[in-house]
Amino acid sequence: LASREMHRENTTITLPQSDIGSQTFTVIGGPCSVESEKLLVQTAEFLLSKGVKLMRAGAFKPRTSPYSFQGMGLEGLKLLQKMRAKTGIGIVTELMDTEHAEAVEEATDIIQIGARNMQNFSLLKRVGKCRKPVLLKRGLSATLEEWLMAAEYVMAGGNYQVILCERGVRTFNDHSRNTLDLSVIPPAKALCHLPIFVDPSHGTGKRAYVPPMALASIAAGADGLLIEIHPDPDHAASDGQQTLNFEATEKLLTQLKTLAGVL
Ligand code: PEP
Ligand code: MN
Repeated sequence: LASREMHRENTTITLPQSDIGSQTFTVIGGPCSVESEKLLVQTAEFLLSKGVKLMRAGAFKPRTSPYSFQGMGLEGLKLLQKMRAKTGIGIVTELMDTEHAEAVEEATDIIQIGARNMQNFSLLKRVGKCRKPVLLKRGLSATLEEWLMAAEYVMAGGNYQVILCERGVRTFNDHSRNTLDLSVIPPAKALCHLPIFVDPSHGTGKRAYVPPMALASIAAGADGLLIEIHPDPDHAASDGQQTLNFEATEKLLTQLKTLAGVL
């Protein structure tokens, strides 16, 4: 179902806030985690003022250490909904387990499946039954074939609205958190008709490297970006070191516009 042999035309996903696919370039920005209503509203208003119509923020956080901030959970979903009612921005948030599928589907516009859950087959089957688009992150060491098969799991359940998101893979490199594999985009595009996004924040792990890799993603053929943005990254509850502040975001959005005529 994900294969181009089955479906020659690129898939476009239509949301009230914006279309996603090869006809347009979409930026999704926002904090790693839901922290407070104030943070969400402030970030949403900033993004909307710059033409960004979709916002990311995790209520359920897959943290490496069980002692790190685990996210606000169901309370965070409520804050996301309040923020959307106030601002109108679309929401992307992560679903970590089947138990919360209904609550997340209800609260969000796009359901994110994180890298660590790319091969959580019961979760993939569950979102296959959801009626909201799924943003499927590439697993930490997943081959293209494995990633496409994960998309196939979702589609086999009847949900054809899948967006792939490259977020860096594990290599021998120690100069960045992950190795952002932009070289996967051309072969992924050749084999599959789904929109492909890039997350240069998790892909690099360092905010200084986010803008160049965001720009490079356009040249590599990406259909959009998922970027971590926070008004005060040094005090963010998670992933501050790879998060852009508003000033850096504004600069990057201007560069993206000139490069791709985006937004
Ligand atoms: C995230 O987007 O905040 C996240 C946890 O991403 P990943 O699953 O790619 O690590
Ligand atoms: Mn993060």
